[in-house]
Amino acid sequence: MNHIPPLDLKRQYQLIGEQVSTAVQEILSSGYYIGGSPVKSFEQQFAAYLGVSQCISCNSGTDALYLALRALQIEPGDEVITTPFTFIATAEVISVIGAQPVFVDIDAATFNLDVTQIASAITDKTKAIIPVHLFGQPVDMDAIMSLAQAHNIAVIEDSAQAAGAQWAGKQVGSMGHLGCFSFFPTKNLGACGDGGAVVTNDENLAASIRMLKEHGSRQRYYHEATGINSRLDALQAAILAIKLSYLDQWNDARRQLAATYHQLLQLLPGVVVPQETPHSQAVWNQYTIRLTQDSSSSSYRDQVRHQLQQQGVSSMVYYPIPLHLQPVYQHLGYQPGDFPVTEQICHQVLSLPMFPELSSEEQQQVVYSLKDCI
Ligand SMILES: *Cc1c(COP(=O)(O)O)cnc(C)c1O
Repeated sequence: MNHIPPLDLKRQYQLIGEQVSTAVQEILSSGYYIGGSPVKSFEQQFAAYLGVSQCISCNSGTDALYLALRALQIEPGDEVITTPFTFIATAEVISVIGAQPVFVDIDAATFNLDVTQIASAITDKTKAIIPVHLFGQPVDMDAIMSLAQAHNIAVIEDSAQAAGAQWAGKQVGSMGHLGCFSFFPTKNLGACGDGGAVVTNDENLAASIRMLKEHGSRQRYYHEATGINSRLDALQAAILAIKLSYLDQWNDARRQLAATYHQLLQLLPGVVVPQETPHSQAVWNQYTIRLTQDSSSSSYRDQVRHQLQQQGVSSMVYYPIPLHLQPVYQHLGYQPGDFPVTEQICHQVLSLPMFPELSSEEQQQVVYSLKDCI
């Protein structure tokens, strides 16, 4: 029996390896490794793909979020609303700036912020909302943008897991004041190393971000703010430009796999499958089911995961501990029970193998094994 990994980047490399090698060789022999035309050209291509006027590349998705908050001039004492069910980076950048993350519970059907609960978390200190398009599933951006407009607060879309996903026909990342992407290798658009980008239609915000990512400088050796050094290097930009041309095709393959999982798993007792909402086109960075037999502890889910592993199927748990209960956020004073949906879901989630090159035989084996284990 073959071992089925949660993700296998070697298979993707087999497909594009020759193209990547040529591009990499060209840059290596050029002697120019930072900035220059590969970076500029990728920024233009990614902006055009998303339908925005500005793309500023940087070193990671974490830096992208940090730069977005800085450009909005968010400061110590300010509050930023986000979800407790995300990768730590989303909240971490708020804390790094000295502002306070304010969490709002999620919607069980989408794993995303429950938009009906956001308004009650808004105070006069609230400066921004960071919705996360988790697992490649778009947040209801119409609801978020109208709330933000009504309260005059900014929206930063954390689109790290959702490159190419759409809400009501628009690309995620293009609807908020700023959109942030990660090119970490496991994302739908992943580099062969670290990378990230902020996108926007606001020229002033874009100019601030370019200044901040270059040591607070618009003009060489003249520094107007405390910035950072955050670059996407030329090699990664060239690789990303190649991969961007495959993104829609790869996302289609993920959507096809998701449709098959849905069909094969939706009627299984004790399993809740993820579903697209009416206006969303998800890109399934993860295909995450819920095992609902136990809602108060993770032991049943962990046992199923262990049994699957013994049958050669690797699955993952994103995320086992909600952010409001992490040690790093103890000082915020949240308690177990504050966000019941998130807390229950952390005990139940299991992400199944999902990557464009997963074969249908392998997918059948995943489903067969899962049925055997539950
Ligand atoms: C990956 C990820 C990030 C951080 O991106 P890095 O490139 O790893 O810094 C931020 N938010 C979410 C939701 C992510 O999945």
